[in-house]
Parts: sequence; C-alpha cells; structure tokens
Amino acid sequence: MDYSSLGFKYYPTDYYYIRTFKDGQWSEGRLTQDRFITISMFSQVLHYSQEAFEGLKAYATKDGCINLFRPDMNAKRLQKSCRRLLMPEIPEKEFIRAVIEIVKANRNHVPPYGSGASLYIRPVIFGIGDNLGVNPASEFMFIIMTSPVGPYFKGALKPVRMLVSEYDRAAPFGTGDIKTGGNYASSLLPNRLAKEQGFADCIYLDPATHTKIDEVGAANFFGITKSGKFVSPVSSSILPSVTQDSLKYLAMDKLGLKVEERDVYIDKLDEFAEVGACGTAAAVTPIYEIFHQGKVIYSKDSEKVGFVSTQLSKIMNDIQVGDVKIYKNWILKVQN
Ligand SMILES: *Cc1c(COP(=O)(O)O)cnc(C)c1O
Repeated sequence: MDYSSLGFKYYPTDYYYIRTFKDGQWSEGRLTQDRFITISMFSQVLHYSQEAFEGLKAYATKDGCINLFRPDMNAKRLQKSCRRLLMPEIPEKEFIRAVIEIVKANRNHVPPYGSGASLYIRPVIFGIGDNLGVNPASEFMFIIMTSPVGPYFKGALKPVRMLVSEYDRAAPFGTGDIKTGGNYASSLLPNRLAKEQGFADCIYLDPATHTKIDEVGAANFFGITKSGKFVSPVSSSILPSVTQDSLKYLAMDKLGLKVEERDVYIDKLDEFAEVGACGTAAAVTPIYEIFHQGKVIYSKDSEKVGFVSTQLSKIMNDIQVGDVKIYKNWILKVQN
C-alpha cells in the first residue's frame, strides 16, 4: 500500500466500535466487523442533528509503538459537546479505553513510521430511537471508526490560498464552539464556492460583526506577528482546537514567543509575517494569500514557508511520532 498517496477519505479497516445508551445507562462497548448500523427512521440525529464528533490520530513510532496525542483533550471536548446538546457524557477513562481498543484492533492499518501518514480516529455520538417532536432523544449510540489518512501535505508544508466567506458556519453563542455536524452542514456550500474559485477553503468571520477572523474551514487560524508574537483569535463561535492549544504552548516554551489570544481584524492583517490554519487533519497549513470582497488583502511568497510555521510544524510532528520525548503527558502509548 502506498501510504504517501493516501488522501483524507474512507478506507476500510477491520473493526468498528459500538456502544449504546438506553434506560439511563451505557451498555458495554463492543467491537464489530460490520460497519452498518440499523436505526429508527425517527432518530433525533436524522431530523434535528443531535450529534457530536471528535477527530484524533494514532501515529506509529520508530520503535514500533503507537502513539495517541492528547486524547484526554478530545474526551473532555466531546463531553462539553454532549452537555450543550443534551446527550449523555462518556467518562474520560471510558472514552480513552474505547479509543485504545479500536486502535489495537486496527493496528495493521496504522501507517508505518516515516510514511507521514497516520490512523485517523473518528468517535461519534448521536440520538436515536423513536421520536418526532423537538426533544432530546432518550437513546444514543456512540461509535468509533478509523481510517488511514495521508499526510495532508506530502513532504514539505505547502502554503494555500483562502477566500473570506460571506457565509457564517455558526451563530454567536450558538454551537460554533462545539464539534457538531450541523456546523459542517452549513459549511458545505461556502466550501464548494471557495473551491470552485480555486481556493483551498474559506475563512469565516465572526458572525456578529463580520470584521474578525473566526475559523479557517475546519481548522483554527493563527498568525505570527512581525514582532514575533503567536496570535490566536478568541470568539464564542470558535471550536477550541487541541492542535492550536499545543502550538501555543510550543511557541512559548520552545521558540520563546509571546502568545496573544485576542481579536484578529480582517482588515488589519498587515501586522502578520506568517498566517496559517491548524488542526488534527490540517496539522499546520501555511496560508500565503487571503482574498476578501474582490481583492487580495494578504499576500506572501507562495513558495516560502515562514520560519515559525516550519519550526512549529516540525516540533509537533516529532512529538507525535515519538522522535522527541518532551511533555510526557501529551503522549499516550497504545501498547503493542
Ligand atoms: C476539529 C476542528 C478544529 C481543529 O481541532 P483539533 O482539536 O486541533 O483537531 C478546528 N475547527 C473546527 C471547526 C473543528 O471542527
């Protein structure tokens, strides 16, 4: 199998994880080889999007182990999503145990060390059962699937162009800060429009005033100022990214940069020497051009990747694949 040519798409693996919630409690989770599930047509998820998901990766290390990167953060974020959408939470330990179980079961599909690829893990929880009115479900399903995914960018980091969208993906104090499918349904059209015009994805502004940067597609925005500060936007409609949180820490601890969490105005991007997107799928993606209301408002050399972005991307990757062993609590080893 050519791991370097894998994209980000479905690829069959051997096992899937499934657990149901009924009569006020979670069943024992189990592995299955059947990726099809049967649910009622009246399931809440189908009508009212009572659903939340997560995304994390398993990385093969040089010495033959498999690393998970900060899965406790995904467990906590899923709990927060569940609270917002009135779904039962999965205790952190049980979430992590289930993730370990599914990775072990699919260990033959974890791409080898050095391939740049990894095993993507997608946990999802959603409301099922027989309902019709707008009420929370009383039965739920928690499933986990995996798929080997390629390096987002083969080899070197490849800078991309972004279009500032006229659309919003979420509302102020809506569900932008949780990982729920509804936010993605509303992003499909703006994403397509951006791609049709040759952009990698779109940048969403804050839905209340349309003056500040919120998100970059399915990733967080970051900027490195000319004076060497790492800046990340704050907003009630941004999904708190584990990658962003980690990059902030690395910027501070490894590169000695000051970190600022504040508004980033779309008409004041001049202060940045580097801008980019970050997330589990996107990793660190440099942005070389931003287009807004018919004109280019940010532009850099499309062939050059900024020094800070390059460094951050490299340290992150080295930690994830276990080449650099710092911040021990960031890595959970899946025993082989
Ligand atoms: C998942 C996601 C991110 C990235 O979060 P990570 O924890 O770094 O993977 C950023 N923005 C949105 C909208 C997301 O859904």
